Amino acid sequence: MSMEKQPAEELLQAANTLLAAAREATTGPWKVHGRWDDTEVRQVRDDLVGGRFNQIAALNGWNEASEEGADHHNARYIAMMDPLVGIAVADRMAFVAGEHDGDGPEGCDDCKRWLPLARLINGRN
Ligand SMILES: [Zn+2]
Repeated sequence: MSMEKQPAEELLQAANTLLAAAREATTGPWKVHGRWDDTEVRQVRDDLVGGRFNQIAALNGWNEASEEGADHHNARYIAMMDPLVGIAVADRMAFVAGEHDGDGPEGCDDCKRWLPLARLINGRN
């Protein structure tokens, strides 16, 4: 029996790691507020009134390298990747793991499509 990890194991580990991180993060959706040199990412909440908000990230400072400011681009990306996205990806990855539970270490073409992402997530934790 091989000691190598099965693809399903790697996928499930990554799915669980991503799901835990997404659940601990501030609930989405998130949106970008401000422009260019005073960009923030805020949680979108219907129950917050009177100018209050939950700040997710503040990306202050002008980036000379970019006309629009890299901070704004980063904020847009952060907002797009809120926990709703992480939970959806984790859910799909767990489903694929379940479907390929019996695969050997080599996996199949379907597994191999997901393994780079799973290894990226596993390698960061
Ligand atoms: Zn497979």
